[in-house]
Amino acid sequence: MDQINSSLPSDFIRDIIEDDLKTNKHQGRVATRFPPEPNGYLHIGHAKSVCLNFGIAAQYGTTCNLRMDDTDPSGESMEYVDSIIRDVKWLGFDWNDRLYYASDYYEKLYRYALQLIKEGKAFVCSLSADEIREYRGTFTKPGKESPYCNRSVEENLDLFERMRAGEFEEGTHVLRAKIDMTSPNITMRDPVIYRIKKESHYRTGDRWCIYPMYDFTHCLSDSIERITHSICTLEFENNRPLYDWFLDELKVKYHPQQIEFARLNLSFTVLSKRILIELVERGIVSGWDDPQMPTLAGMRRRGFTSEAIRDFCERIGVARNDNLVDMALLENCVREDLNERAPRVMAVLNPLRVVIDNYPEGQVEEFDCPYHPKNTEMGSRKVPFSKVLYIEQEDFQETPLKKFYRLSIGREVRLRYGYLIKCVSVVKDPDTAEVIEVHCTYDPETRSGFAPDGRKVKATIHWVSAVHSVPAEVRLYDRLFRVANPLEEGSDYKEYLNPKSLETLRSCRLEPSLLADAASGSRFQFERLGYFCVDTVDSSDKIVFNRTVTLRDSWAKIANKR
Ligand code: ATP
Ligand code: MG
Repeated sequence: MDQINSSLPSDFIRDIIEDDLKTNKHQGRVATRFPPEPNGYLHIGHAKSVCLNFGIAAQYGTTCNLRMDDTDPSGESMEYVDSIIRDVKWLGFDWNDRLYYASDYYEKLYRYALQLIKEGKAFVCSLSADEIREYRGTFTKPGKESPYCNRSVEENLDLFERMRAGEFEEGTHVLRAKIDMTSPNITMRDPVIYRIKKESHYRTGDRWCIYPMYDFTHCLSDSIERITHSICTLEFENNRPLYDWFLDELKVKYHPQQIEFARLNLSFTVLSKRILIELVERGIVSGWDDPQMPTLAGMRRRGFTSEAIRDFCERIGVARNDNLVDMALLENCVREDLNERAPRVMAVLNPLRVVIDNYPEGQVEEFDCPYHPKNTEMGSRKVPFSKVLYIEQEDFQETPLKKFYRLSIGREVRLRYGYLIKCVSVVKDPDTAEVIEVHCTYDPETRSGFAPDGRKVKATIHWVSAVHSVPAEVRLYDRLFRVANPLEEGSDYKEYLNPKSLETLRSCRLEPSLLADAASGSRFQFERLGYFCVDTVDSSDKIVFNRTVTLRDSWAKIANKR
């Protein structure tokens, strides 16, 4: 523990931990936890918290617990628990046998509540929810005491026990901490700590009909688990005095220290569970794992790697100021990772037929093409070449626009890994006048990609052999929203959804190696087009690729560099 590697991240939270270790606070221990509520899938914001909490544990050689903060029966489910477990594991973190549930602490929490009542520090309040709100006051107006705040301990114990026994209807009574109705911090104005909810809980079933509130549960769960540093997001800053109040008043043995950091906000998407639930429930996306979603399940299906996400979380760092991180930074982390690791292959998304007039009918050549220009360990595969090819429609212009250097009538280009070809004529659809086939000649002397006479071409294009190619569906994903901060635009965020966040192309052609290689979830660079990943859900009776990210730039510009 003495030697902390200098390349490890450092931030104000780690500084606090370093100081605490020096002063032997928490008996020199460091213990963290990641405490999601299983009422939705984890998103990239949660990943920041996961990386921080588990990252600290790894750095100090200690433990990080995974705790389901499940104190509200509405909306929580085992499906969400399973998804959280899957996603944290996928991110690369391990809690060993320390998977905990706040719902396992219900009995302990109940006894803590009894203790508060016995000490005159909590009372059963029979005001309605609206009245409680009204009595609470505002930022400018102090609250006033509940008429029930002076009930005797006996009466409170009796009522609270009967609340637990199910004698009362929802909303008739709550248990409140007795703190200070004039506190400038509204959180401290006799907060509710238990409410009646006659709803089945996904783990405790109908055993309970009173449920503890988050503020009460959270600090005590941390204490029960002997957490030392309870890291949470800034919106809980005002809850810290309450966190400390419960722990102090209950004289617990372990008093964790709450530290707040700025949550991740990411441009062109939303990281609010409420809204993500709405997107799923309204069918705006196909599910929690829709590749348009900022969930870890969606990003994984889209082809993002856990390494890239961890790298992103490290790069954005941890601070106390809220800000909006550019989606481009995340995309770039993904790109950088895949740039090194993804095999490069050829695929044509919008095919245009090319006939090489002077290439012998029936002849097939196999070109040996490396999977990666630098990483030779990745090996190579054979790519067949024949008389009829497909190229990308946008790589041909009948009348070339200015600065268009790719194929057009009379112009020669290089085929990636292959010959130079020259366009000689086109065939048009008689009805639409659209070019449906391009005729070319090839120069047999240019198999190396270069002409012996030294003549240059200005572009290199990708291609597949028509008869050998494999059909596929390709889904082009783009950002979910067309504005950087959809929630700040005022009116309904749904107005800012990007209509082009998904474009499905159904007549794509892939080089044949992919028929064997395209295992579910595998990732490739389609040369010049971007990074793509085999869809893990819809790839049973057809090949479906998801575009993970685009390439920053194509290699068209370096066509003549050897
Ligand atoms: P909601 O989006 O509805 O507010 P939540 O983010 O509070 O939900 P939890 O399941 O309570 O969801 O979050 C678990 C943990 O992840 C908490 O400690 C929370 O502080 C952290 N967390 C949630 N969102 C972010 C975010 N955008 N950036 C960093 N940490 C986050
Ligand atoms: Mg929360």
